[in-house]
Amino acid sequence: MPAIEGMLDFIDACPTPFHVVERAAGFLRASGFTELDEADEWPDATGSRFVRRDGSLVAWRHQACDAGFRIVGAHTDSPNLRITAQPDTGQAGYRQLGVEAYGSVLLNSWLDRDLGIAGRLATPSGTRLFRIDHPILRVPQLAIHLDREVNTKGLLLNPQTHMVPVWGLGLRTPGEFASVAAEAAGVGADEVLAWDAMLHDINPSVIAGIDGEFIHAPRIDNQVSCWAGLQALIDAPADSPPSAVLCLFDHEEVGSTSAQGAASTLLPTVLERIAGSRGALHPALARSLCVSADGAHATHPNYPERHEPDHHIAIGSGPVIKRNANQRYATDAVGEAAFAAACEKAGVDHQLYVHRGDMPCGSTIGPFAASSTGVTTVDVGVAQLSMHSAREMCGSQDPLDFALALGAFFSVAG
Ligand code: ZN
Repeated sequence: MPAIEGMLDFIDACPTPFHVVERAAGFLRASGFTELDEADEWPDATGSRFVRRDGSLVAWRHQACDAGFRIVGAHTDSPNLRITAQPDTGQAGYRQLGVEAYGSVLLNSWLDRDLGIAGRLATPSGTRLFRIDHPILRVPQLAIHLDREVNTKGLLLNPQTHMVPVWGLGLRTPGEFASVAAEAAGVGADEVLAWDAMLHDINPSVIAGIDGEFIHAPRIDNQVSCWAGLQALIDAPADSPPSAVLCLFDHEEVGSTSAQGAASTLLPTVLERIAGSRGALHPALARSLCVSADGAHATHPNYPERHEPDHHIAIGSGPVIKRNANQRYATDAVGEAAFAAACEKAGVDHQLYVHRGDMPCGSTIGPFAASSTGVTTVDVGVAQLSMHSAREMCGSQDPLDFALALGAFFSVAG
């Protein structure tokens, strides 16, 4: 049984999708999984294996196709601010860094925080991860004396002009970001060819609330699911059917259509290679089930009217199964019943979520996984507040229950 502190360590170790994949690979190796390279032939993909594609990873325990696959998918990315290609800028006597908003960011949540930078650098000898965990950046909020109606008319933020972090005084210095990132990565500034870099709140994740019932942390959406899926896969039996597959995808927050997102070839091609042939794959898919694991909206105590009145979701009341008639979530009755059975087998409660009918519903990787594999898919997740904030909130018991439910799902009958 994992401890919740392990999840907090995981989140704090993973400021970017690349760090999620690196950390997951480390966990998997320590648990006896061996890595395969997509560029190689795979004469035999049975056993406990994993493969990486940039900010995405697929891991599995497979012996035979007879009982199909039990697939758990989650995403490694979170909305944030990303460093531009030519970031060294400045105004009014400040050195600043140009950023772009990635995904549906709650921009206000990035104001007045102690921010670090992390990501990967492309160098002549391959990519190198880096992270800077001291408060090197801040996006200062405008004083109320200069924005008198902010509390009555709302905070309006332009992502181009209002979110530019400051990191020093003086004139802009071309090449400064590259040299700072190079030093953090342990390479020479002249080796930096390009980067995928982003900001993160350096405050550590904490157990919170009067009885320790909450977690306050960045990237709960969706590193909680990545962590729970990893725990479940590592605990899954190595040698008994069905085959357990965990896929952690990048780029969910921007629609999943990339070379390594949930809409990419990653999952279908890896499943085909695990199965050994297309002829073996298709019958196996017909016997498979998929869980798409992603954050769920807990009912907000200050805005209960924003929620569907007969589908209130509580923190601390177990995994949430998400339904949407228009297939923004992939769940159907068969998938709902299968995941409810997994929860029952694990001894945890579950809840049912439906979005208000008069507001557009979010989506996740479920519909992509379902449409690219043809496998019955159920969208589930841990209840949370402050979704897409730089610092989110969930329960301290729910992630543990979720890991148990995903573990039970890996052996549920088709
Ligand atoms: Zn998410």
